[in-house]
Amino acid sequence: MALDKRNLYRMPWSMNDNAIAWLELTDICNLYCEGCYRQKITGHKPIEEVKEEIRFFKRWRNPDNVSIAGGEPLIYPNIMDVVATIAELKMKPVILTNAMALTPEMLKELKKAGLSGFTVHIDSHQNRPHWKGKTEKELNELRQHYAEMINDEGGLYAVFNSTVYPSSYHEIPDVVRWGRENIDKVHGLVFITYRTGAADTSVAVAVDSKIVDISKLSYVRDHFEEKFVTSPEVYQIIQDNFPEYDAGCYLGGTLRVESYKWLASAWIGTKKKMYGSVGKQTMEVAQAGHHALKGTYLAYLSEAKIGAKVFLLSAIDPSVRRAAKSWLKSVVRHPGQLFDSIYVQSIGIIQAPDILPDGRADMCDSCPDMTVWDGKLVNSCRMDEYRLFGGMVSVLDKAKVAQETVMADQP
Ligand code: SF4
Repeated sequence: MALDKRNLYRMPWSMNDNAIAWLELTDICNLYCEGCYRQKITGHKPIEEVKEEIRFFKRWRNPDNVSIAGGEPLIYPNIMDVVATIAELKMKPVILTNAMALTPEMLKELKKAGLSGFTVHIDSHQNRPHWKGKTEKELNELRQHYAEMINDEGGLYAVFNSTVYPSSYHEIPDVVRWGRENIDKVHGLVFITYRTGAADTSVAVAVDSKIVDISKLSYVRDHFEEKFVTSPEVYQIIQDNFPEYDAGCYLGGTLRVESYKWLASAWIGTKKKMYGSVGKQTMEVAQAGHHALKGTYLAYLSEAKIGAKVFLLSAIDPSVRRAAKSWLKSVVRHPGQLFDSIYVQSIGIIQAPDILPDGRADMCDSCPDMTVWDGKLVNSCRMDEYRLFGGMVSVLDKAKVAQETVMADQP
């Protein structure tokens, strides 16, 4: 089905009431990822500062889960204390990691401290030792390793995310296929479309109107002229390969009405077969119901093994009705399938900031990944602009700026 916002639920998240808060412990990492938004400037944050930020989130953000990010959070010396502090304040700590430092022993300790789950970032542009030059399909072996490790510990959710580059876009179905085959261990997949600036063709203007050196940002490259992948394209390639997949909710852009900045789906199936996806009605009930009962909006389902009761939502959701029919047909043909466990797995797509011709950026409306900088909430994907230049920069075409400067200089 072609994407249409009228068929999707717009997530009710906002600045002060959002399912997610983004906590950064360090800007140091043990791996270089091409798509990373962070570079080493200050190192590990003092633990008291981190705890202050956790309390800030509790007071101003009302999150269901706190994404513990960086840099690489697993190399932060007080990681157990951080996890325990978040859990004590009745928020769910989720670690966003490249997992290189993860061991079964550490996993056990993290769980004891109150960890809810992991989002493990693996993709083919990471330059991982021993995995360089591998395709996304080949990297499924590494994903499998961590999925098994997290599953063996039990009681933790495991989401896998990857950055999507123009060169790896066509490999998305290989990752989705792997996730589907491991629906009993993998709670979700996230695809983040790569964005960068090109220093040879762009200039950046800071808040004080001065031109700043854009190449100081880790997410700017010397040269880039490929066409960025968009969320609707990611959606389409998944749907072309997996017709049971469909999106149920979205977040738009801050500047463009047609943007799909976040697109989320929850598809339903067993280890052998997928039956369909939930629609906008289920998404709305899940968000409103969680908020009414628990006081927070929902980001992750803690239990993926949902069972046939999910089909009760057929009463309000035509998409679930179609999935229920498909399941029933399958069970009639193969009665043994009645006993196969039914799971729900989320698939998220994120389209990172898009620079518009006037230099402003179309960001994610109600950005779920806001973090604390200088006592304020800022979009984590652009925090280095605050750290280096005092605020978000406008990115303009170098040739155009040069031409306008010449014209302005003419008498
Ligand atoms: S605007 Fe927010 S959600 Fe969107 S890419 Fe940036 S940090 Fe992530």
